[in-house]
Amino acid sequence: MTELAATGLDTTGSAASPAPEPSASEPASPSLPAQRILAGQRALVTGANSGIGRAVAIALGQAGADVVVNYVDGVEAADAVVDEIRRFGVDSIAYQADVSSEEQVGAMFERMVQQFGTIDILVNNAGLQRDAAFHEMTLAQWNTVLQVNLTGQFLCARAAIREFLRRGVVPSVSCAAGKIICMSSVHQQIPWAGRANYAASKGGIKLLMESLAQEVAPRRIRVNAIAPGAIRTPINMAAWETQEAYDKLMKLIPYDRIGEPEDIARAAVWLASDHSDYVVGTTLFVDGGMTLYPGFATGG
Ligand code: NAD
Repeated sequence: MTELAATGLDTTGSAASPAPEPSASEPASPSLPAQRILAGQRALVTGANSGIGRAVAIALGQAGADVVVNYVDGVEAADAVVDEIRRFGVDSIAYQADVSSEEQVGAMFERMVQQFGTIDILVNNAGLQRDAAFHEMTLAQWNTVLQVNLTGQFLCARAAIREFLRRGVVPSVSCAAGKIICMSSVHQQIPWAGRANYAASKGGIKLLMESLAQEVAPRRIRVNAIAPGAIRTPINMAAWETQEAYDKLMKLIPYDRIGEPEDIARAAVWLASDHSDYVVGTTLFVDGGMTLYPGFATGG
């Protein structure tokens, strides 16, 4: 079950109901003109051949950054993201690495420095779920989620920090020595029955991010997080593809529309840019108000 199912949504979905048509009553995610506010910067996005990571990688490229598109499987999808990014006149490569492997992460950062000279922006996005009732959860399910979602973020952040510290600030590129964006979730705050491993990993990301932000801020390195709510990604299709599932989802979203990967991508571009200089150790919730206790909207 996926993140959208968060919430007790039935992601097994019934194929009987038709997919909801976009309607005037369903407000759309805005389409805004891109600015090249990341020109000359070099970014790495983990898990960038799908969903949110894909949209973030493309938006960073559109904003002028060269981008490493990390993937663990699905080389065709990764190559397609690279092609799309190159259309913006920037450089991009795909790189296969399991973020939970110290050796593979080390090799990925070596390759990045070889190709682009350094790294300015890391987006720690890769993540997965292995859901189970707590009393049935295997150690393998627990370990897989913690190793990818939390240890993966540690390994990539450590490699990026080492390069930021080696290089320092280059004022013509950015007023910070480097930026890290950790993809968290509303489930760093909202408990999630049946997914204790996932919620623990996202809660862990919160304090990993804040502790690291505190530690490296004096070196002009900014570490922040984005906490997405329910975002329309392919793996979540069952939670929004039918009108019934979509309507059920909307009960949890005061803003009354599902999030799109581009909603997260715009936030990531801003957090990666000097426009957000002085934003340090913050989690930006991009969730249409999901964390506002929607059950209390009518007085509880
Ligand atoms: P997704 O499954 O489309 O993307 C996840 C990506 O991570 C994929 O590219 C996958 O291959 C990659 N990945 C998995 N294991 C990996 C590994 N060991 N090494 C490298 N890459 C690996 O899902 P998504 O919805 O785009 O999720 C992206 C991030 O956003 C995740 O961290 C997820 O927890 C978070 N998130 C998603 C939602 C949502 O509603 N979709 C909500 C909150 C948070």
